[in-house]
Amino acid sequence: MMRDFVYQVAPSRVIFGPGTLAQVDAEIERLGCKRAFLLSTSFQAADLAALANQLGPLAAGQFTDATMHTPLAVTARALAAYDACGADCIVALGGGSTIGLGKAIAYRNDAPQIVVATTYAGSEVTDILGQTEDGVKSTVRGPKIRPEVVIYDPTLTTGLPIAMSVASGLNAMAHAVEGLYAPDANPVTSLLAVEGIRALRDALPAITRDPADIDARGEALYGSWLCGVVLGSVAMSLHHKLCHTLGGSCDLPHAETHAILLPHSAAYNAAAAHDALAPAAALFGGDLAGGLHDLARSLGAPLALKDLGLARDDLDRVADMAVKNPYANPRPVTRDGILALLTRAYDGTRPAT
Ligand code: NAD
Repeated sequence: MMRDFVYQVAPSRVIFGPGTLAQVDAEIERLGCKRAFLLSTSFQAADLAALANQLGPLAAGQFTDATMHTPLAVTARALAAYDACGADCIVALGGGSTIGLGKAIAYRNDAPQIVVATTYAGSEVTDILGQTEDGVKSTVRGPKIRPEVVIYDPTLTTGLPIAMSVASGLNAMAHAVEGLYAPDANPVTSLLAVEGIRALRDALPAITRDPADIDARGEALYGSWLCGVVLGSVAMSLHHKLCHTLGGSCDLPHAETHAILLPHSAAYNAAAAHDALAPAAALFGGDLAGGLHDLARSLGAPLALKDLGLARDDLDRVADMAVKNPYANPRPVTRDGILALLTRAYDGTRPAT
């Protein structure tokens, strides 16, 4: 039986394929802009310099200090540099950290954004901005935040280290798994979610065998795009709240935390969201949580929160925080249930459903 739903199509232009980095020039002009402000992390500064060279006079300035979780102090410096060079648009090259900085600038001055996405985090297609001040992370949403143009060029991802590729790919899958049981899920986001999970399930093993496999890199970017659209379209639940808490209060790395928790949050909701998760479970022989754990293990992903430096004593505090603000989740969120989930994730035990 088809249930009622609302589906709002998010306006963004996506350019996909090997070599599409060459189209940044044309996309700047298509937006009616002439002076792009280029962003990256320090790690990708050489790639950004090459892009500046490609753009010639279209490149007005560069900023290579993008930082995980978008600290306000970094945004203030980047905004000052944007104004100083007389820029009229943003080109962000990188993963969620760099994209977050571009969004933070656009949130304040409504600059048009072109994103060249080089991880699988999915931020490039959402209207969500997470920023931190004094170690506290808060989230805002709004139409100025979502980038106008996204370029997916798989050739730029062959240098993404295998460990980062795997963690980032599992991070993307987490958006899709939660999207399937979201209270505002609809038939279209569910199709995108299942296809996104399928693409990453197939691509990640091939990438670990050969990180330069351009077909696998393309398939992973395609899957991460679909999973990102799901993240930007429907509400996230328990898994994302727990990762947000662990990232914000225990300073755990973003993608790895998602990768470790995903099988356990899938197990927590497996019975309560059985029907919604069934198409994803079918991709893993009928057992989504166990299948995700086995996939992560086979890919060499981190499996245990203790390996990220979390102390066992932190689990109680995280469980307390996780039940503080209620939110929609298929299975009721109880402190005992969350503590059991966190304990399994801490030890890296195969999830039981
Ligand atoms: P990241 O952007 O921090 O990248 C990790 C490192 O890998 C960086 O040094 C980066 O320069 C490098 N890197 C990225 N792509 C590379 C490539 N192709 N080759 C070589 N090196 C590369 O990691 P991430 O997981 O993409 O982003 C995490 C951040 O994004 C977090 O702050 C998270 O909260 C945020 N995020 C936001 C949303 C949203 O919708 N707002 C969604 C997902 C993630």
